[in-house]
Amino acid sequence: MEKRDELYRGKAKSVFKTDDSDYLVLEFRDDTSAFDGKRIEQLDRKGRVNNQFNAFIMVKLAEAGVETHFEKMLSPTECLVKCMNMIPLECVVRNRAAGSLCRRLGIDEGAELAPATFELFLKNDELGDPMVNESHAETFDWASSEQIEEMRSITYRVNDVLKKLFDAGNMILVDYKLEFGIFHGRIVLGDEFSPDGCRLWDKDTMEKLDKDRFRQGLGNVIESYEAVGQRLGMEFV
Ligand code: UDP
Repeated sequence: MEKRDELYRGKAKSVFKTDDSDYLVLEFRDDTSAFDGKRIEQLDRKGRVNNQFNAFIMVKLAEAGVETHFEKMLSPTECLVKCMNMIPLECVVRNRAAGSLCRRLGIDEGAELAPATFELFLKNDELGDPMVNESHAETFDWASSEQIEEMRSITYRVNDVLKKLFDAGNMILVDYKLEFGIFHGRIVLGDEFSPDGCRLWDKDTMEKLDKDRFRQGLGNVIESYEAVGQRLGMEFV
């Protein structure tokens, strides 16, 4: 597979065409953004850590029967993925209250949420990724009701798999965000799963091990991502 021109440069990843129109190369950069791109910094080793973290999780999800866009790792910072038509929605599942849920509804941080909630946000930095619902998605043609139902069902399936995985590493999967695309008519999990897009707390100390370390200026951001990976059995190069 030959890597060709850059197609798109996102906040933390760049996307390149390949000589096969069905596949793209994702390059994970060291750029780290928060607050809808209002704060951007470079964090040494972040690109390689997130690429390898994502590869490990995508393989685990595929083994559990979740179809993902991930094909294979190409280098410490790059992977090959399916070229999809991305649905402009973020699917968020929460097992515990944190972040915007606490701000919006006045719920105490850490409250257990049973059943886990499922929320949709529009991917739009200028608007601050507003929360939307299924009716908006249908009216504005972002996704059909059937597609939303499928995204919800896959997102909960991912929750079953990953809650157990992180629990085995003595961590709580507090919440996470997934994005989906359409590949040959099927809804397929895309984007990435890394500590940039989820919240993970140590089960004993409740220490934050994810991107909140960056958002809240707690330090040791990438060291913490690596420690999470090592607890799950990852070996970073
Ligand atoms: N999230 C994300 N990208 C976004 C917004 C949220 O990856 O643009 C993740 C975030 O890291 C957390 C979950 O989705 O794991 C829920 O985020 P929340 O709605 O609480 O927003 P925040 O507090 O991060 O603004």
